[in-house]
Amino acid sequence: MISRFPFSKTAAVAALMLSSWAVQAEGQAPHWAYKGHHGAPAHWAELDPAFETCAKGLKQSPIDIRKTVKTELPALEFSYGSAAPTIVNNGHTIQINLPAGQSLKVGDQTYELLQFHFHTPSEEMVAGKHAAMVAHFVHRNAAGELGVVGVLLEHGKKNPAFDAIFSHLPRPGESITVDALTLDLAALLPESKGYYAYEGSLTTPPCSQGVNWMVLKTPVRLGADQIKAFRRLFNANARPVQLLNDRIVKESL
Ligand SMILES: [Zn+2]
Repeated sequence: MISRFPFSKTAAVAALMLSSWAVQAEGQAPHWAYKGHHGAPAHWAELDPAFETCAKGLKQSPIDIRKTVKTELPALEFSYGSAAPTIVNNGHTIQINLPAGQSLKVGDQTYELLQFHFHTPSEEMVAGKHAAMVAHFVHRNAAGELGVVGVLLEHGKKNPAFDAIFSHLPRPGESITVDALTLDLAALLPESKGYYAYEGSLTTPPCSQGVNWMVLKTPVRLGADQIKAFRRLFNANARPVQLLNDRIVKESL
């Protein structure tokens, strides 16, 4: 079942759920953008003193994943099931907010899934290439640290797992709730969970660092119509790649 609401009715609920300011910020700052003279990514740090990390930070995301160090990384153990999400058009992206209960275990860390959202093209590049889109699954552990899993989305056959989302994209200022049975979160992920790992940041203001990035090596396919539906709302919402500086990108075996 799908129900539509004006965004304002559910904004308070979303804000309560995402009590971390850093996580909320992806939708809350009104004046940053992906293009234009003032709001574009190169100028984010000038918009607000709280955004200075966007320019000064040395561990920023996204990056172009080129040179990697192959090593034994802990497996990503997703405990994802079905959930009743709220799909929000926050003006920067389509964000799917989730009730508690979906988690990810990485080594001795357990993260709770808060939300996921999309960018087009993919923000991260692999060997100099963007994917058509990317989904960022934003998790937080008990210590308040964020772990974001990037799932690259490439052109292919229509993907029924994403249909509950891409058939009902909310217009700006609107949010939609979807019945739990219609969104199987585990089905959104590729079968193979090999990944790249690096230390980075939020890719939107305030660009806070200390985010553990895990980008899955295997992309998921979306149909041309699904990608088109998203691009009708957001034709380009990706921050350009940032300098790697002295970071190392690890790659699972
Ligand atoms: Zn993102």
